[in-house]
Amino acid sequence: MKLIDGKVIAAEIRAELKARTQAFEEKYGKKIGLAVVLIGNDPASQVYVRNKVKACEEAGIRSFRHDLPEETTQKQAEELVSALAEDEHVHGILIQLPLPRGLDEKRLLSLIPPSKDVDGFLAENIGRLALKEAGTVACTPLGVMEMLSRSNIPVAGKRAVVVGRSNIVGRPMALLLLNADATVTVCHSKTKDLLEECRRADILVAAIGKPKFITADMVKEGAVVIDVGMDRDENGKLCGDVDFENVKEKASAITPVPGGVGPMTIAMLLKNTCDAAERAQR
Ligand code: NAP
Repeated sequence: MKLIDGKVIAAEIRAELKARTQAFEEKYGKKIGLAVVLIGNDPASQVYVRNKVKACEEAGIRSFRHDLPEETTQKQAEELVSALAEDEHVHGILIQLPLPRGLDEKRLLSLIPPSKDVDGFLAENIGRLALKEAGTVACTPLGVMEMLSRSNIPVAGKRAVVVGRSNIVGRPMALLLLNADATVTVCHSKTKDLLEECRRADILVAAIGKPKFITADMVKEGAVVIDVGMDRDENGKLCGDVDFENVKEKASAITPVPGGVGPMTIAMLLKNTCDAAERAQR
């Protein structure tokens, strides 16, 4: 069994990006910039934002952090995002979700120009992915593809099963695998025989949000298993959607949690920001 180490792969990518950010600065006399907008007091969001800002600094990306209070109005939030949309020092805009209740997420996100949508959440970018056109792809599924490719795991012609169909993980994941010529099945809470669907997978991606949901009997001998989940087990310990200890005995390659897909997500955010900045100069 091969352990796919997200921390090692992400560090490799961050080193490559550092060279890119330095080259950008030398060529254009300014830094690549990412605006990070955090509204409210959600503790998990604060940790995510802190990690993203730290990763930016290490990669040589200037971060513009905007912390707004819980009681921010829609108008105030929209004014900030509109100003960032116009700001030429800001190449990417990230609005940390979820937003406090009362704020219209869809409307706020729609003020981000597609060229600065480094999360790849906008309809234009998802549409481009669906049409296999160049655009910005959501960081987590993009990170999974990068892990597969850097681990020399072929995708073309393989049977890929994605469990989960959210707009930020499962759906774009399925499109990426399809674009890479896998034969793709997407499963969700209404899937009739999940066990049999999963057992057919050469590549199984779990993006469900339920601790240790994918058990060894659901996995084919020799399958590649990618665990996107970030859940808490019965003791409050971080774990994935896959029952790692038992599934690892059957898988030919598997990602751990923590240290798997998580670090790749941040690395892809940095990559998307570099891509956006370089595109903006063309
Ligand atoms: P989500 O929006 O809640 O979507 C969960 C998906 O799983 C839905 O499509 C749902 O089906 C499906 N599902 C739920 N119960 C099921 C069941 N019993 N059988 C089959 N399918 C089932 O979650 P998400 O945002 O995609 O996140 C999924 C997981 O990934 C979470 O643990 C999250 O924390 C993690 N995550 C990790 C990263 C990272 O960087 N590593 C990034 C994002 C998310 P329906 O559509 O039918 O409801």
